[in-house]
Amino acid sequence: MKIAVEPFLIFATLVAVVAPLSAQQPPATVAPKPKDTEVWEPVPKVVTPGTTDSAPPSDAIVLFDGKNLDEWVQNRDKSPAKWTVANGVMTVNKAQGVGNIETKRNFGNYQLHIEWKIPENITGTDQARGNSGVFLASTGPGDAGYELQILDSYNNKTYVNGQAGSMYKQAIPLVNPNRKPGEWQSYDVIWTAPTFNGDGSVKTPAYVTLLFNGVLVQNHFELKGETLYIGKPTYKKYDTAPIKLQAHGDHSEPISFRNIWVRELN
Ligand code: MG
Repeated sequence: MKIAVEPFLIFATLVAVVAPLSAQQPPATVAPKPKDTEVWEPVPKVVTPGTTDSAPPSDAIVLFDGKNLDEWVQNRDKSPAKWTVANGVMTVNKAQGVGNIETKRNFGNYQLHIEWKIPENITGTDQARGNSGVFLASTGPGDAGYELQILDSYNNKTYVNGQAGSMYKQAIPLVNPNRKPGEWQSYDVIWTAPTFNGDGSVKTPAYVTLLFNGVLVQNHFELKGETLYIGKPTYKKYDTAPIKLQAHGDHSEPISFRNIWVRELN
């Protein structure tokens, strides 16, 4: 009898004492595990890189591969592009009445690769020495849009927010990695297009990141609006836009382009 009662009393005592205590304790915490912070899906899609880092990867739209200007039109009237193609490169046509060319396609956000060369026999000074440009969004005729400047800035003094690698009159390049005239140079651009509200006001601004000859010169720079030659930049509502190349009016020798491709990031 004594033996039978004691375990019951011990159990009852334990319940009476421990149960109220455990009710007051916070719930037992589970020790965090490495797998708690692992994400397995969705899996990024496979993209086959180019044979070199400058060659287009498998998901790129090739805008110029050295053969023709099929992806380009005249900015002025959308007629076939009239710049010169020879020996695998395209060269600016500075003849009167030709002007800027732009892509047939419109783009929003993208990654762009483009190579350009200032001719070895370049002449001129300041802004009149190999001036061209890549309008990251062409929002209208002429020079309307957001201009990433091209210029011979190897040994050529000009205002620093107008040298090669600048977002013209807005963003000074962080450093100057220019190669000398006669050598090919590259721009790798990440363009985040601006977005707008229905009333035309800015919802989110444009951003640009630029690697110039592999060197970071613009680091997620927030633009204040479209490029203006005179006055302060302002935004103008647009949805998607072509990429435009500039035939600048200066009299120096025309520059050339090659290996142009884009990856849409929308
Ligand atoms: Mg220019």
